[in-house]
Amino acid sequence: MQRVEHSKAAEIFNIDEPRVDWHDDTLWFVREKRDKAAHQLPEWETLRELASQIKNHSLSNLDHYLEEFEMNATKNGITVHWAADGKEHNQIILELIQKNKVQRVVKSKSMLTEECHLNPYLIEKGIEVVDTDLGERIVQFRKEPPSHIVLPAIHLKKQEVSDTFHEHLHTEKGNNDPQYLTEAARVHLRDKFIQSQLAITGVNFAIAETGGFVVCTNEGNADMGAHAASIHIACMGIEKIIPQAQDLGVFLRVLTRSATGQPITTYSSHFHRPRAGQQMHIVIVDNGRTKQLGRPDFRNSLKCIRCAACFNTCPVYRRSGGFSYHNAVAGPIGSILNPNIDMRENADLPFASTLCGSCSHVCPVKIDIHDQLWKWRQILTAEGYVASSKKVGMKGMAFVLAHPSIYRFVGKMARWALTTFPTLLANRKFNPWAKQRELPIAPKESFREWFLKNKG
Ligand code: SF4
Repeated sequence: MQRVEHSKAAEIFNIDEPRVDWHDDTLWFVREKRDKAAHQLPEWETLRELASQIKNHSLSNLDHYLEEFEMNATKNGITVHWAADGKEHNQIILELIQKNKVQRVVKSKSMLTEECHLNPYLIEKGIEVVDTDLGERIVQFRKEPPSHIVLPAIHLKKQEVSDTFHEHLHTEKGNNDPQYLTEAARVHLRDKFIQSQLAITGVNFAIAETGGFVVCTNEGNADMGAHAASIHIACMGIEKIIPQAQDLGVFLRVLTRSATGQPITTYSSHFHRPRAGQQMHIVIVDNGRTKQLGRPDFRNSLKCIRCAACFNTCPVYRRSGGFSYHNAVAGPIGSILNPNIDMRENADLPFASTLCGSCSHVCPVKIDIHDQLWKWRQILTAEGYVASSKKVGMKGMAFVLAHPSIYRFVGKMARWALTTFPTLLANRKFNPWAKQRELPIAPKESFREWFLKNKG
């Protein structure tokens, strides 16, 4: 994905105001569904605490559980591969494809393969890759990356989907009936499933105790791919491991309630061993995760189960869109994970937050997201990755906030300037903050002055 700084990309997204409003409302609707689903369970907070503790325990014993998983998976007839980074991950998959003389691959949703840029890598080597999640297929047709980890095409309206399908699937022009479009996609994908010898899936949870893994989808496309193909490759980050099968009872209850407000994913498919005549492979990938594990302040970010609740609640994500984060994993959690991989490239992301804390409040595994964003800001500033104008501005603000009399004087001056020269403070060239904002009408007095007069 081409890198455009978050604030600039958000500015571009904000040009289309009706789309921004609709994007904002749609994701807030999903957030409200999450709230209803969570509030229906009196034990919700207990489940969150349990999920957090299980993940904490797994991360503290990652080496042990990964080896246990490898041993049990191998016993079950699954071939386990290890990849230090995205490059190795892609090479392993290409080798398997070439060894088996496969030309076409079907792939269900896997943010890890997006993170490793698997699709462009395979396509460049002459392999046809068909994304089978409906949203992912739509964005693949449009040569766009997913803009959301659960709802990949959430930035598009149904008319745009209709136009895309008309161009690629020859559906009736202008027909944007979702049922009609979904059926067209179904027929199209069914052909791909039947013709494909190799299916790639992600992994939601890998169970050390059994050597099996679980893939959650709402469309059943992972199952269709894996059951129709003679080779199944599952790709997982090292943090997907959980110790025991009974832990699934916690995670499956919180995952989809947090993601879409459903009680459970339509398909929570358990894979334990290849069926007779089938090959099953699992590629376990690090790609910077152990580095993050070694950062005490950010270790907890590896608890993430990719539910996207933090995206849906984030006022910045909802009004800046997924592409403005220029990474496969966007939103608040992406703004913590991506600087770990490359501080210089992702120095803008921890600043794309109001630090309101809503992300931490909804996170089903209790990641302290907004605290970590704040900590990244400090590290990035200390390491010299932040523009000097921002550093000077922050130092100035810190000085003003630390001196009450200066703060009061500056407040008075700002109120005077807002009333006397409103265009000066709202000058969008000198004050980028005012670009998407209407500055308020200045009150005659500060709250403190009002309070002293009326309540003092
Ligand atoms: S950080 Fe928490 S809320 Fe955000 S995607 Fe991960 S698990 Fe979900």
